[in-house]
Amino acid sequence: MLNAKSLRCNDLLVTKPIWKPQETTQTGRNHKPRTKEKIQQGYNPFMRPELIKFCPLCGTGISQQFRYGQERPVCPACDWIFFADPKVAAAMLLEHDGQVLLVRRVNEPYRGLWTLPAGFVNAGEDPAAAAARECLEETGLSVDVTGLLDIYTGREHSRGADFVIFFRGRLQGGNLNPADDADAAEWFDYSHLPPMAFRATEFILGKYQPK
Ligand SMILES: [Zn+2]
Repeated sequence: MLNAKSLRCNDLLVTKPIWKPQETTQTGRNHKPRTKEKIQQGYNPFMRPELIKFCPLCGTGISQQFRYGQERPVCPACDWIFFADPKVAAAMLLEHDGQVLLVRRVNEPYRGLWTLPAGFVNAGEDPAAAAARECLEETGLSVDVTGLLDIYTGREHSRGADFVIFFRGRLQGGNLNPADDADAAEWFDYSHLPPMAFRATEFILGKYQPK
């Protein structure tokens, strides 16, 4: 199991978040955008404490209280506290015979562009297991995780992750069979990579391709 102490911070890339919530356009004098509208325009309500109105546990109206160093939404009935936690994804860099495994996105944003097998880490899930799981789900290939590669920080779109943890793996078995978030899965030479969906993927492939 990896933990924070196993990471050497000077090896890790830290970037400023490159996605920001878009402000809604005012269309009328008293126009107040509704939450649904805001989400459609790029807001992530789970990172915006002021949009939390009711306690998800007991349904009581939320109050803003000073807790753990800042104002946070707190339930006055059951003392539930809202923390705007970052979304975490895990990705797999799998190489075989000098080629790297990529998948083509079937969903927006960046549908039709390529990336490493990756997805969100479930609550309570080991990030390394999440990377192997996503690889199996999207490509049909099972892998042994061989090590932690890097961490990329910075949300690239409104539904994206705030951190992507990259792992290396060794091909274990299975048949190449794209599914889930991918409609194609192929091996590529580093000298002939397809158009990439994410800056994180471009960065990792550029940094770790064999010299
Ligand atoms: Zn409550």
